[in-house]
This record gives sequence, structure tokens and C-alpha cells, in this order.
Amino acid sequence: MPSRVFRDRIVFDESYKPRKLLVRDMEASLLISRYKARLEEISGFTDVSLIYGSIGRVGIGKTTVAWYVGKNLEDITRRIGVNFKSIYINTFGAPTLHQILSIIADQLNLNISVRGSSAIEVLKAIVDHLYIRDTFTLITLDEFQSLLLSPKISDDDLYTLLRVYEEIPSKDGISRVSFLLVASDHRVMSYMRERIPQIESQIGFRIHLKAYTSSELKTILLQRAEEGLEPGVWDDYYLDMIADYFGEDKGGDGSARKAILALRMAAEIAEAKGAMRIEESHVRRALSEYALAYIPLDELRSLSTHEILILLALTNEIIEKGEWTTTGDLKIKYEELSQHYGEAPRGHTQFHTYIKNLSTLGLIDLKPSSKGMRGRTSIIRLPPEMPADRVKEVLESILLDRLKQRS
Ligand code: ADP
Repeated sequence: MPSRVFRDRIVFDESYKPRKLLVRDMEASLLISRYKARLEEISGFTDVSLIYGSIGRVGIGKTTVAWYVGKNLEDITRRIGVNFKSIYINTFGAPTLHQILSIIADQLNLNISVRGSSAIEVLKAIVDHLYIRDTFTLITLDEFQSLLLSPKISDDDLYTLLRVYEEIPSKDGISRVSFLLVASDHRVMSYMRERIPQIESQIGFRIHLKAYTSSELKTILLQRAEEGLEPGVWDDYYLDMIADYFGEDKGGDGSARKAILALRMAAEIAEAKGAMRIEESHVRRALSEYALAYIPLDELRSLSTHEILILLALTNEIIEKGEWTTTGDLKIKYEELSQHYGEAPRGHTQFHTYIKNLSTLGLIDLKPSSKGMRGRTSIIRLPPEMPADRVKEVLESILLDRLKQRS
């Protein structure tokens, strides 16, 4: 039986991208015109621009804007007869130069054995390929801060990649590779200044995306409702209710991801109850269940094994003792847990890098301890909307999968 509530469920999937961007369209247009102008320059396409958010804010449209820029450039270049390919890489899952180049080679359908070649050889093959086909490419490096925090990629590797036009010039001297970096917050700029200052100083546009306000979320929700729900099923009043709950200006965390999921949940509840319309009780239940059960699965899956071990140690601490724990205590628990899983615990510096990363991703709350505690310790907890017992189950299953693969 066709649903009386949903017109198209896919509209509520994480990976669904609306055809038209109604919010953040200005930011996207700015980037599109910058890259388009670069395409027309004689020396070629050499831009590096940056989109960044704010600490702990996820679901605020960074990836969406980047995707939209790439997609629009593909459309524009098709119309003007320029060969162009937009490539998206989540650098969390690809923390080395070799892995990044391997994705690029793959997306360009390059016929090269990446495994058997050095990074420079692969990069050279990419540059040659683009020259031979006269094809331009925009490479989006999402979660770029994690690449800067990765010990697996050297400063030289980063320069080689981001200044490929200098390191490996194309045969005709025309560069065909530009980058769009996407990072979670402004600290990416200081990490860059530390590791790759020449790139940092040459960044074209730096676009800061703030958390969404309730009126922006309302626009986003209305678009999803129109595309994904049957007419007459929703009422503006309930879209406002959800938008107000998550809107940054109303005390929410400004996440479009959460707002869209809450609308989907309300519609699912209405459907399960056999209702013809979404009602207030459905929205309230969706919001309360949502608040209770927020598990950012994709982010958890993309963590490194040691980040998972740290987060698991933290959930164990919280289940045992509740609320906040200190970094010192957490480190001890993490070391015990690593040994339990047959992993050599990482040293002090790497441990703190992981903690920084988890905090940037909004997976832990981190703050300096109050006076009276020893030294400069920090205290940590799981964000209140993440239920420790469910997170623990998820982390354990990810860990087991990985250990199984390894053995
Ligand atoms: P971030 O990269 O900041 O974590 P995303 O870009 O992944 O956030 O957005 C999270 C979800 O919200 C996605 O499902 C995306 O489609 C949706 N979304 C974010 N911004 C917008 C927008 N301006 N218009 C429509 N949908 C949006």
C-alpha cells in the first residue's frame, strides 16, 4: 500500500541533496563565481578556498555547500563546453597522501596501479591525464582539520598535494587542479599556519558557516516537506515548532541534520498511527525521542580505532560514575581498554590530539577543570543528547568488526 504520509522517503535520507539550495545559496554562489573566474584564467585553475564552521557544530551545511559548488561547476562547465570533474574526499577515511591520490585516480578512471607506485608517480599520472583530456578538477577535502592532525601525512605531502601546480607542472603550464577545503572550525587556520603556512596565506575565500537560525531551518524543513511529504500532511505550525527547537537563536544547536530527522520521525510516527496528518503529539514525541537517542553513526564509524577506544573508555566511565571525568582518569581507562583489545596504547601527545579531534567533532564535551584540581587538567563528558549505553553498544560493534577484519 502506498504511504499516505510520504511522497518520497529518500528526501529524508542523510545523503539526499535538494536540487536547489535555498539557504547558504549566497555562500555557494560566491565560491562558484570565484572558481569559475579561475577556470577562465590563462595560468589555469589554482585556487584553494576554505569553508569552516564553529566548534562542536555539525549538520550546519558545510558538506552540502561544498557539494553544491562542485555540482554547479559541473553544470556550468558542461554548458560552456569545458571538461570538468568534481571530486569529493572525506579525509577522515583517507588520512595519507597515497589514499587521497588513490581516490582521485579512481574517480578520474585512471588506469594506474596506485599500490605499486609512489605518491609522486600517481600525482604525475593524474596531472598528465588531466592535461591529455584537457579536464579541470575541483577536489573537495572534507574534514580537512583531521588531515592536519593526522601524523600519517607529512608537511611535504600536504604541500605536494595542495601546490601540485608548482610541484608537478602540467606539460602546457596550465594548472587544472583546485581545492575546496572543508573544516569543522576556525582552528583549522592556526593548524595550517603551524604546518603549511604558505598555503594558509594563499587561501582565496574563507567562508564561515554559522549554526542555522530557526528561520533558516524553517526554510530547509519546508523544502523537505514539499518534496518528501504528501500535500496536506504537514502544517507550517509544526515545522515552526521543530525549527524553533533546533534553531541556534532559540537555544538549539542549529543543526539542519537534526531538524530534518525530527521531521522525518514525526512523519513516521504519524504514519505508524495511521493518521492522515502530522499532529502536535507526533512532533512532541519525535522531539523527545530524538533528544534521547542521538547517535551520530557516520561520525563514529569514521573514527580511528584509538579514537573509538578513547570514546568507549569515556562511555564506560560515564555508565559507572556519571557525568564528567578528568583527562587523567580517562587516559588510564583508555590504556586498560587498549590492552584488553590487544592494541598498544598511544602516547601522551597523540592521546591529546585524539581528544582535540573528538571535541572538534562534537563527540565529547571538553572544558578546563575548575580550581582545586591538580595541574592543568581538563574534564570531559559525552554530550548530554548521546545516550551512553547505546553509544557503547555501537562503539563495541564497530571495534569488533575491525578486529575481525584484522584477524
Ligand atoms: P555539516 O557538513 O556541516 O555537518 P551537512 O552539510 O552534512 O552538515 O548537512 C547535514 C544535513 O542537513 C544534510 O542532510 C543536508 O542535506 C542538510 N542541509 C544542510 N544545509 C542545508 C541547506 N542549506 N539546505 C538544505 N539542506 C541542508
